[in-house]
Amino acid sequence: MATAEQMTIATAEHEHKLDQLAEVAINVGLGLAKGQELVMTASLDALPLARKIVEQAYKAGASLVTVLYNDEQETKLRYKYAPDESFDHAAAWLYEGMGAAYKSGAARLAITGGNPALLANEDPDKVGRANRAQSKAYRPALELITRHEINWTIVAAATPAWSALMFPNDEPEVALAKQWEAIFKTTRIAGDDPTSGWREHDKKLIARATRMNEKRYSALKYKGPGTDFTLGLADDHVWMGGGTTAGNGNYCIPNMPTEEVFSTPHKDRADGVVTATKPLSLYGSMIENIQVKFEKGRIVEVHASKGQEVLERLIDTDEGARRLGEVALVPHSSPISQSGLTFFNTLFDENAASHIALGQAYSSCVKDGDKMSKEELAAKGANDSLIHVDWMIGSGELDIDGITATGTAEPLMRKGEWVE
Ligand code: ZN
Ligand code: ZN
Repeated sequence: MATAEQMTIATAEHEHKLDQLAEVAINVGLGLAKGQELVMTASLDALPLARKIVEQAYKAGASLVTVLYNDEQETKLRYKYAPDESFDHAAAWLYEGMGAAYKSGAARLAITGGNPALLANEDPDKVGRANRAQSKAYRPALELITRHEINWTIVAAATPAWSALMFPNDEPEVALAKQWEAIFKTTRIAGDDPTSGWREHDKKLIARATRMNEKRYSALKYKGPGTDFTLGLADDHVWMGGGTTAGNGNYCIPNMPTEEVFSTPHKDRADGVVTATKPLSLYGSMIENIQVKFEKGRIVEVHASKGQEVLERLIDTDEGARRLGEVALVPHSSPISQSGLTFFNTLFDENAASHIALGQAYSSCVKDGDKMSKEELAAKGANDSLIHVDWMIGSGELDIDGITATGTAEPLMRKGEWVE
């Protein structure tokens, strides 16, 4: 039996699917231009997919592909042996270099995966400080990405540790194979021509976002088991979904998979009771059967059958943690929802069902929001917080109406599906 570290899958069918995933990632997700440079990050576990992506990138005309690998065992060694001051330190030179690459025209691809619980048993203070130092060092470069000045995308690779978390009752080889199958299915890698399938899917998401933007609803009304909830939308809110043309002129779809159409709710206009339809995995603990009551945008009551304390601590982070910063619509028929799996990874779990997020709003979901100050955004109703935590409220039993400025209700979703 191979060890977890050496474990790979080597069947012709698997190789073919990896090729397809790499091709879709480069040509549809990233929209890599001929002659463009590419900066990619990946964990060592993702090496087989990373190599396929490099191959596709050069076939698509990349001028140079630079891959930055990280090794989780080496990260653990830092926590074991590095001096305390190490955790306030980040490789600033590296992030400056990445920023310089983006500014000179490079595209950015991240392979997500690895072990979601890698640092679960490390000193939370060290983890927090290391994350802060890294975020601070990376911020200037990251801003080029969040403002969509360059084309970028994220795809996932199955890894031994991640698959063990998703399929705890299976042998390592079986778990890894099951996770790859789940990634291919939910990332719409199926049939002979996943590229065309993705272009069709992208068109649908854009049509839905466009329709929502034309409708200019003032609020959404949710009705389902345990849910009777009205959520106002921010002034000048913008619905987003699917791909976007980056500042450098290249069209990209930033997340693979992506199923959501999302916008910014009004931080003072949420009223009623809403019940979560999936458990929420937060900082290594599971919070189950969440039910929350809102009044004028603010949480006034929370209940959870498990993990209530963690949830209460979360909403006490700051004033904005008690209010909503994102509203997203995802049909119940989405492949992630149909898989019935929890991935313990936002890229997937956020696309499993209609959701709302406590905390920070996306400034890009307010018209000209990227140019506004915090105060200007707040005046539009966009929430501000240190946290952004998505939780799932969609199901096959949820109905959603759009409420027009004059108060008329129009059906948007019935039994979890778009009315189109
Ligand atoms: Zn979302
Ligand atoms: Zn979110």
